[in-house]
Amino acid sequence: MRFVPRSLFFKMSLSISLVLAVIFGASSYITFRIQSEQALDATRSQAILLTRALKNTIRIGMETGHIESLMSIFHTVGALPGVEKLRVFDEEGRILYSAKLSEIGKLTDELDYAVYRSPERSTPFQSANTGHRSFCMVEPVENEPRCQRCHRREIETLGVLDVCLSMEETEKKIEFNRLLMLSFTGLAIVLTSGMTSILLKRFVSNPVAKLVGTMESVEAGKLDGRVDIRSGDELGRLGNSFNEMIRKLSEAQAEIEKFHHRQLARADRLASLGEMAAGIAHEIKNPLAGIYGAAQVLSKEFPEGDPKREILDEMMALMKRLDNTIRDLLNFSRYTEPQFSEASLNDVIDKVLFLVKQIPEGKRATITREFDPAMPEIEMDQEQIKQVFLNLVLNALQAKPGGCSLTIRTYSEVPADVPDVKHNARFVTASVTDDGPGIPADKIGKIFQPFFTTKEAGTGLGLSMTRKILDLHDGWITASSEVGKGATFRVFLPKVKL
Ligand code: ADP
Repeated sequence: MRFVPRSLFFKMSLSISLVLAVIFGASSYITFRIQSEQALDATRSQAILLTRALKNTIRIGMETGHIESLMSIFHTVGALPGVEKLRVFDEEGRILYSAKLSEIGKLTDELDYAVYRSPERSTPFQSANTGHRSFCMVEPVENEPRCQRCHRREIETLGVLDVCLSMEETEKKIEFNRLLMLSFTGLAIVLTSGMTSILLKRFVSNPVAKLVGTMESVEAGKLDGRVDIRSGDELGRLGNSFNEMIRKLSEAQAEIEKFHHRQLARADRLASLGEMAAGIAHEIKNPLAGIYGAAQVLSKEFPEGDPKREILDEMMALMKRLDNTIRDLLNFSRYTEPQFSEASLNDVIDKVLFLVKQIPEGKRATITREFDPAMPEIEMDQEQIKQVFLNLVLNALQAKPGGCSLTIRTYSEVPADVPDVKHNARFVTASVTDDGPGIPADKIGKIFQPFFTTKEAGTGLGLSMTRKILDLHDGWITASSEVGKGATFRVFLPKVKL
């Protein structure tokens, strides 16, 4: 698995690691803060407790005259770990007694004295900056009536008890805890992220990579590959469905290939059949011309009205029909590579109409031209395309020989209302519409097949040849009809040779 920044694996691992980091980080920070506050509270309470206890001890010691014991208690408490300051100063701030004997007679700290003089005395306060936090408390020992047995009445305060407890040790422990917690948090994030990544890789990334790999090989045309995901989860089911899809695809492809082979074989057979037909037609054409000529000579030997002459005329008519069939057959089988040149479909159709107007059905027909003036010149074999429209127009005239009403329209691009063809600016199109009897639904699918005809003298090769020519031009033809109302043939040709 490549560790690509845009991969699913990377995104999921990153998201999970971030969420874990936030959760662990936040919980560690909160725990640390709570611990720190609790340690602060505990020191504050200890400071209050110690100060009050000492005050009472002083009072009792003084009342009972056990000054020596009092001093010893002071000394013992002052030496306890964490007791930073233990002293008594007078109203002027001069130290009367201290656990550190060297301080006696000196002035107490300014802050302690200031707190004593303020209304906030008797509440713990943080000492001046000593590099670590400490909690101090100043507590005056008032000159109560029972003290006045020994002390003068005018004195208000006998002394001020000044106690400071250091938090240095506690802070060290908190710092140690903080480092410990940070290390555990880091370790937890690394381990959980690692574990999640391994699970993600095993249960998501690997199956997805297998799916992608198989999809790519299917895309490249290899339909024999299968996804191997054995888990029963959603990805496993996806893999199974995908395998099933490939199996069906491969079956369909095999079916198409078989069909294609059959088509090729058929086309091959048709081609050889065409060649054979062309050969035979060629062989027949010349003797037929000879026989026709001889019949013509013979016919002139007999006077008009002679039954022998009528038989010969009938023979000649049949030979003419045979000759037409041979001509169509030769045209059909002749595979002519189109000779492309630029021309406008409007001009080519006009040439066809000129020819058509020379024959009796053409003369009887009403022909309407609706040509698009913007018709571009396109690459085409003009003779072949002329053949296409000649076939279509002749078919229309033959469908209603008595006087057909024919409309020919051209469009410089496929109009949006043309059925089954997307509005497409890449093709020009032309339609030939007649008002003949139309083509029944069961026949319209067969009219482009070679030799399909409903006409007595028809060869059934016109429309199949038309389709063949359009194929060679990368165009196509469609037919639509409403029985009793007429038929419409549409021809589509590419503007630019494909
Ligand atoms: P042919 O004209 O020799 O019969 P085609 O291939 O040109 O051969 O036409 C095949 C058949 O299609 C015709 O016999 C006819 O039944 C049908 N057909 C073609 N054009 C029309 C049309 N405009 N109206 C009715 N039927 C048509």
